[in-house]
Amino acid sequence: MPAEESTPAIVLRARDYSESDRIVTLLTRDCGKLGGIAKGAKSSRRRFERKLEPLTHLTLFFRRRPHGDLVFITRAEPPPAPAPILDDDLGKIALASYIAELADALTGEAADSADAYLMVARAFDALGRSGASAAMRQSFELNLLRVAGFGLEFARCRVCGNSPSEAGAAAYFVVARGGVVCARCRAHAPEGAVRLSPANAAAMAELAGAPVEDAARMTDAGAEGALALARFLGSILDRRLRSAALLDSLM
Ligand SMILES: [Zn+2]
Repeated sequence: MPAEESTPAIVLRARDYSESDRIVTLLTRDCGKLGGIAKGAKSSRRRFERKLEPLTHLTLFFRRRPHGDLVFITRAEPPPAPAPILDDDLGKIALASYIAELADALTGEAADSADAYLMVARAFDALGRSGASAAMRQSFELNLLRVAGFGLEFARCRVCGNSPSEAGAAAYFVVARGGVVCARCRAHAPEGAVRLSPANAAAMAELAGAPVEDAARMTDAGAEGALALARFLGSILDRRLRSAALLDSLM
């Protein structure tokens, strides 16, 4: 029998399976993104009670199977550090659900996802402390995109390299360039580029360069920043995230 392994993990998705089992998708610190099955999860309260729910932070114990994609989850224990409280406020629930779904969509199975795990864990901690805000959402999107290899550029024009704010004019976000072009280089921006006011372009540059923990005291980049991020995410994701609708209605 394969040895039992353990790692800190966050439950991204969970669903009941058959009479008594539960299938979960987890983002782990040490073992990438894992799909697992917890046999008897609904009857064995001692091993699993309330721990295999979406957005839960836990210490996962599991065994790999010689064949098949799902690992066997043997038990779940509390996480190494106290878990943030995310279920006392609708805004927190909505943003945490979105964070989990976006992290799921941007990480592949078995890939090294330690950075994504840490980013989600830090975002959940910040969310638990400060509550949901547009700045926190935008900060998480920018930080997770960077971790996933899509570092977006708002501080420098993608064409000439100058700071867009030096011109004191609007900047234009171009999805295909993964960043902005300045007003002087606007001829290089296609028709559908997202216009960002100088203030919103500066806010995006600051959010992109700051840790997610700082987002609670930062200014969001407004509807223009949200549109730029939505356009970029739409270009790399193959589906619309279900959790985005509730979050959009709240923010
Ligand atoms: Zn330029």
